Amino acid sequence: MTLRFASLGSGSKGNGTLVASGDHCLLVDCGFTIRETERRMARLGLSPADLSAILVTHEHSDHLSGVAPLARKYGLPVYLTPGTLRARDIGKLPSVHLIEGHQPFSVADIQVTPVAVPHDAREAAQFVFRSRGTSLGLLTDLGTVTPHVENHFAGCDGLVLEANHDPQMLAQGPYPPSLKRRVGGAYGHLSNQQAAGFLQRVGSEQLQHLVVAHISEKNNTIELARAALAEAAERAANCIFACQQEGFDWLQLEKSG
Ligand SMILES: [Zn+2]
Ligand SMILES: [Zn+2]
Repeated sequence: MTLRFASLGSGSKGNGTLVASGDHCLLVDCGFTIRETERRMARLGLSPADLSAILVTHEHSDHLSGVAPLARKYGLPVYLTPGTLRARDIGKLPSVHLIEGHQPFSVADIQVTPVAVPHDAREAAQFVFRSRGTSLGLLTDLGTVTPHVENHFAGCDGLVLEANHDPQMLAQGPYPPSLKRRVGGAYGHLSNQQAAGFLQRVGSEQLQHLVVAHISEKNNTIELARAALAEAAERAANCIFACQQEGFDWLQLEKSG
């Protein structure tokens, strides 16, 4: 089976992305309470009991806060880097799989390639998933697009891409100066323009689904993100915008070529 994916919610108040192939489903990050996760998964036709594993990108609470409680309640294995595991007291996990040396690994029939990204976390990793000739890139929470990131995320059939802020809204917005510097800095989050530049460089013609994600509710609007990305995303077959409350509904990738 080819890959399909959906989101429980996307943004600084909580993230969770489902990546599925056949009967197997992975949850990447969980920034919601158990109840909220159950409710949001039910909306997408699943229960946490259907999950094969949880993968964690990094230790910020919008990605991690719900991971240990959910893993304990449902006996789920957790995949994370040694840096993320040690970054803070996560709580007891039923089963830990360390992602070693950024080596690709497999969970069920989904192949996962971790990709190091510049972000103000101990050992952040974003992921490229492959199954049966389809590939999906998940790329949020990074301050800079490095050549390493471009190499790994070029050519994906599906892409979830951060467009966190509009630089002018961030500058004029409610955040204290230190947080503004953090968000806009090299280890913070991608602006609309950085996301557009990335798309322009790697190309969007191969994209079946482009999901613009981790959009700030305070420092961005969907309209600004849409305008900034319009030209770069022109060739993508489908372009949607993920939101904090609803995430996005299931999207299916088809084998290309
Ligand atoms: Zn985040
Ligand atoms: Zn983060």
